[in-house]
Amino acid sequence: MQIEPQAFGRVLSSMCTEPHPKARDAAERFLATNPGDPGTYPNVAALEDDAIAMLGEIAGLDEPSGYVASGGTEANVQAVRIARNRAETRTPNVVVSESAHFSFQKATDVLGVELRIVPTDDAFRADLEAVRSCVDRETALVVGIAGTTEYGRVDPIPELGEIAASVDALLHVDAAWGGFVLPFTDHEWNFSHAPVDTMAIDPHKMGQAAVPAGGLLVRSADLLDELAVDTPYLESTSQATLTGTRSGAGVASAVAAMAELWPDGYRSQYVRSQHNAEWLADALEKRGYEVVDPALPLVAADVPRSTFDALRAEGWRISRTGTGELRVVCMPHVTRKMLASFIGDLDRLEVRASVPLVSDD
Ligand SMILES: *Cc1c(COP(=O)(O)O)cnc(C)c1O
Repeated sequence: MQIEPQAFGRVLSSMCTEPHPKARDAAERFLATNPGDPGTYPNVAALEDDAIAMLGEIAGLDEPSGYVASGGTEANVQAVRIARNRAETRTPNVVVSESAHFSFQKATDVLGVELRIVPTDDAFRADLEAVRSCVDRETALVVGIAGTTEYGRVDPIPELGEIAASVDALLHVDAAWGGFVLPFTDHEWNFSHAPVDTMAIDPHKMGQAAVPAGGLLVRSADLLDELAVDTPYLESTSQATLTGTRSGAGVASAVAAMAELWPDGYRSQYVRSQHNAEWLADALEKRGYEVVDPALPLVAADVPRSTFDALRAEGWRISRTGTGELRVVCMPHVTRKMLASFIGDLDRLEVRASVPLVSDD
């Protein structure tokens, strides 16, 4: 095989990053283990308990239960599944805001649950009035997003918890991306801030673990029972995960990253990433673009399509929001030097665009 993976030097669009060296090493060592079969692979099963204990600490949960999933998608699917199985109605619905990740469409599709999408407010957060008037007795789950994929916003989680409780629904928090930066902010997002029942939190995003390492946390173990199926040919008697065989690399890598970085390493990374996002937002604003203020280390700006395309042609891996803004995620591999070089290219391209008759050569 000749082909090599891409370098990270121009990657500004990814929510994943280079794994921490210790996480990479742990992933390699545990590559040939399967935590889906804990009777055969007890060492990685013990590591998974450590992973859940650490994720619980990060997310303010005293006696955590859960498991290391393949990612935020699986954790979201499973949260919807728990709520559906627990609901007493046969026609349950799930309420999310329009900023929810597309994995909720997959979840409700495969589970046969109605998905109700409400608008966001001026600050790109779930509009509470809209959520209030959308829920009803058939609502099984209200979803709050802690770090939205497009704008890095945090929904009003405690208020969403009150609304969920008013109709006896569960509250799920999607902190797939935000979970490893929010502990260092003033946002109210976790199990200790609100009556959160379930949470998605991905070590393979801001947690600097190798892919695949997501996390599903539940407030009490009985919620996981909603997922459990009997496992006749395994030594363990039941399984709550969606996948059967799964990678021990993700589990070991998540433990290694968290053991190394929680809390100080993650805190300094957050500070660095947030400063970078603010620097970039400022640089774009000075050039006259409309910028969505980076609440977390993620910048969106109204850059014209032609400029966006020209930057892509220069090799910059950038992406767009649903409404077409340039979106840059300041992940750990994104340095100030990279961003300065990106702005340098932007300036050069804009000059060229505004002086159309200048020849290149
Ligand atoms: C990335 C992301 C997901 C999906 O997670 P995967 O690990 O890609 O499956 C879900 N929700 C949010 C908010 C995300 O940022």
